[in-house]
Amino acid sequence: MERVYNFAAGPAMLPLEVLKKAQDELLSYKGSGMSVMEMSHRSGIFKEIMATTKATLKEVMNIPDNYKVLFLQGGASLQFAMVPVNLFRKTRKADYINTGAWSKKAMKEAKKLGTVNVIATSEDKNFTYIPKWDASQFSPDADYFHITSNNTIFGTRYTKFPATGNVPLVADMSSNILSEVVDVSKFGIIYAGAQKNIGPAGLTVVIIREDLMGYAPESTLTMLDYKTHADADSAFNTPPCYSLYISGLVFQWIKDMGGVKEVEKRNREKANLLYNFLDESKMFRNPVAPEDRSLMNVPFITDSDDLNTRFIKEATSTGLLELKGHRSVGGMRASIYNAMPVEGVKKLVEFMKKFEMQNA
Ligand SMILES: *Cc1c(COP(=O)(O)O)cnc(C)c1O
Repeated sequence: MERVYNFAAGPAMLPLEVLKKAQDELLSYKGSGMSVMEMSHRSGIFKEIMATTKATLKEVMNIPDNYKVLFLQGGASLQFAMVPVNLFRKTRKADYINTGAWSKKAMKEAKKLGTVNVIATSEDKNFTYIPKWDASQFSPDADYFHITSNNTIFGTRYTKFPATGNVPLVADMSSNILSEVVDVSKFGIIYAGAQKNIGPAGLTVVIIREDLMGYAPESTLTMLDYKTHADADSAFNTPPCYSLYISGLVFQWIKDMGGVKEVEKRNREKANLLYNFLDESKMFRNPVAPEDRSLMNVPFITDSDDLNTRFIKEATSTGLLELKGHRSVGGMRASIYNAMPVEGVKKLVEFMKKFEMQNA
């Protein structure tokens, strides 16, 4: 059986070791005679899977004890709404930094419920950099401050985070959670859809500081209140059981590899391979400010639409898939999440070199 290198932005590659383990356990999980897909979410055996999954995530991300890990559904997109629903508790004001399409979608939801102050934006240059912020512009009475830590479409990432003092910092980490070491204690909420760097689609991870729960207004719909899910240990209703199980295997894979520190080392190595080539190339270039480049999503373009199209087509036929860029950037994009092996990036760079030589 042949596996391809899949550079999709999400859903994306999963570690081969994880898929093999899931295959081994598919028909009968640990002698239970059933697949995890068939188990009651109230059964002891499944509760153990959930508990282990949570414990392993806490360990690899070094999540402090005053945070809750919630396993929800609805994607990061539902978090765009749940964050304001739950955190607009005093002034109904929030600060946002606009770094692209996902930030905008997050702001759109918050605006329906309160006031959004845009502290900084990089829209003037099509989001090719992380804008500088001026802390004197922050609203000291904001209910929270929201950022998108990695911009999947534009290929930028924060290398340092705004210091927001007593205002809780909320981060959409959908496309770079677990890719590098972060100090969770700096954040009020971290959320991420699973399908990029965690596991299969369907699961959304929310890491929330305990004191930020319990303030949702009385009228809040039950399912939209973080407290509902925290009180029920993420089983208020049926959780995405199989996604959770696979995500647990991914967390264990990270732990076995030596933790997020080791993952980060590999990610830097992979990203450097690609960026170094792009910076030397006369045909391809990456439009992002070098200091703000993502380790996960690498957009690149040539000056010719025809070359772009041919590149994608020929890459596909050599087993390098899903390299088409997002329509708002054009060209190509290689998403190189945790599960992309370094060999995949090497193969991509070799192919790009060859393509450049043949088409110079
Ligand atoms: C993919 C993505 C989303 C959307 O996630 P869904 O789980 O599909 O709602 C939100 N934010 C970022 C940064 C993303 O990369």
